[in-house]
Amino acid sequence: MPAYKAPLRDMRFLMNEVFDYPAHYAGLSNGKDADPDTCEAILGEAAKFCEEVLAPLNLSGDLEGCHFENGKVTTPKGFKEAYEQFVQGGWQGLSHPTEYGGQGMPMSLGLLKSEMMGTANWSFTMYPGLSLGAMNTVMQHASEELKAIYMPPLTEGRWTGTMCLTEPQCGTDLGQVKTKAEPQADGSYKITGTKIFISAGEHDLTENIVHIVLARLPDAPPGTKGISLFIVPKMNVNADGSVGEHNSVVCSAIEHKMGIRASATAVINFEQSTGFMIAKPNKGLEAMFTFMNTARIGTAVQGIAHAEASFQGALAYAKDRRSMRALRGKQEPDKVADALIHHADVRRMLLTQKCFAEGGRAMIYFAAQLADHMTNGIIENDQAKYEEWDDKLGFFTPILKGFLTEMGLEAANQGIQVFGGHGYIKEHGMEQIARDARISTLYEGTTGIQALDLLGRKVLLQTRGKAVREFTGHIAKFAVDNLRDARLRNFATTLAKYAAEWNVLTMRVMLMARKDREVVSSASHHFLMYSGYVTMGYFWALQAAVASEKLAKGGSEEPAFYKAKIATAKFYFDHILPRAKGHAHSMTKPSKSMLRLPVESFVFE
Ligand SMILES: Cc1cc2nc3c(=O)[nH]c(=O)nc-3n(C[C@H](O)[C@H](O)[C@H](O)COP(=O)(O)OP(=O)(O)OC[C@H]3O[C@@H](n4cnc5c(N)ncnc54)[C@H](O)[C@@H]3O)c2cc1C
Repeated sequence: MPAYKAPLRDMRFLMNEVFDYPAHYAGLSNGKDADPDTCEAILGEAAKFCEEVLAPLNLSGDLEGCHFENGKVTTPKGFKEAYEQFVQGGWQGLSHPTEYGGQGMPMSLGLLKSEMMGTANWSFTMYPGLSLGAMNTVMQHASEELKAIYMPPLTEGRWTGTMCLTEPQCGTDLGQVKTKAEPQADGSYKITGTKIFISAGEHDLTENIVHIVLARLPDAPPGTKGISLFIVPKMNVNADGSVGEHNSVVCSAIEHKMGIRASATAVINFEQSTGFMIAKPNKGLEAMFTFMNTARIGTAVQGIAHAEASFQGALAYAKDRRSMRALRGKQEPDKVADALIHHADVRRMLLTQKCFAEGGRAMIYFAAQLADHMTNGIIENDQAKYEEWDDKLGFFTPILKGFLTEMGLEAANQGIQVFGGHGYIKEHGMEQIARDARISTLYEGTTGIQALDLLGRKVLLQTRGKAVREFTGHIAKFAVDNLRDARLRNFATTLAKYAAEWNVLTMRVMLMARKDREVVSSASHHFLMYSGYVTMGYFWALQAAVASEKLAKGGSEEPAFYKAKIATAKFYFDHILPRAKGHAHSMTKPSKSMLRLPVESFVFE
């Protein structure tokens, strides 16, 4: 299993040199305590916990998996103790309000922490990760009374939470949800139905599990307009906040999965379980979606996590394993053969992984600042501020989730390839990374659904291309500002062309879609991938600009770090960014190139 080392130097580079987090935090109402020394201490401690406690449980957790017996789930050896340490460290409430027992830090700091946790052990990270989604939903939508009961134990990590959306007949199309909620005289509801694929739905880490459940009232209209949202605890809660009787929430099975095997994915039956409504009747889906932007960024982090983990494993191997001689001549003449890393094609794979890990991290650090402003709107009870930043973040969310998880999966595959046949063998842990990465493009909305969200909703319907115009405006400004700098001219001219093309493509697809609605679907994947490659290109150029500035100033103790940034950016522009051209070509083809074959002709013959 590759040993995990938290990429603290790269994290500091992005925080302090590229995105100026100290100034960003100083401008946030909840950012005053997040001074550079405190952030450094928090991230350093998180890195230690991830390297020393979580990473060593990653392979063993995968091999052992979760155990299911008589409705009870036991997590793999070591998980319970690691979770206790996680709770003791106060990690769950890092970015949640102090009034509930949290540390009140900005939301972004929690995201940076979760990247390290996820890279060290994604399966483990799922338990507190789903809880964050539940906490955010309760915090924003539940009554003060319910918040007082549920927020403190969730924030302290004494209880965990889940998100119960999916049912056997529907995952994407939640308008088909059947779970019933019957009102009771005391204001509570009896919840009845089956939810499947519920991450952290049952486990032995905490004494209670708080399910956030989508269900229908008896008189609810059909479809998405008739769904409400409920808190349903596994164990009822006594008046003093202690855990009471079982609430007829039954785990009937856990799934046997391709990856994230140490994360329990449960089938949960609600059998007249007592629940409490949060948000307004029939507005459950809207309430659930208000935090979707941040939940999806949390899943986008999984893309970087697996790219980073796979890169770290492959890099160590490529320096150690020897095979033949480099075509340009012997690189290590005193050795029997040159190390893999001397071969250009192996470099291609390693650099691709590095591009996705570090380029994706930059994209997340940028988006995390938008998310900070958005959550500040909630904390400050300022709806206008919340909506303004939610809109800004909304454009990037499907790009981050859709594109970065696909790239994480590619990087994980490249990791196996660098190991050759040994990558396919369990003991090295490289195949586990690829198996674990596979789910990231499926849950929290598949890549296809992210693509539809980006093109159909965020670009065409909500902003009529304005979101693209605004962001490409930033890219164009960067290009103009750096055109005269010989070190950056190539980045600047290339980006200027893509910025212009992205607008033209948006217009073309918009015009095509006016005549043929299917174009939104047929062009969506290509539009998403194009947007992802160009966005990452911008953030690589930005990193290269900061690095070349540092080198030009001189006096740096780490020229190698900055030179590596520039070399990697050049690789991205030479070898990865041109992929966008293929997507540009395909997105402007008529939908009939996908629809002309009749359903009856899809046959095996
Ligand atoms: C390990 C794991 C953990 C999970 N954790 C949770 C959890 O904690 N809580 C929870 O509620 N759910 C969870 N899920 C469920 C997950 O979110 C869904 O599986 C996912 O949203 C996809 O839904 P589906 O499986 O029903 O696929 P479907 O909706 O049936 O989609 C099948 C395919 O059709 C495509 N498709 C569907 N509709 C359209 C359309 N209109 N246009 C174009 N393409 C379309 C999709 O992109 C996909 O490729 C989990 C699933 C797994 C496997």
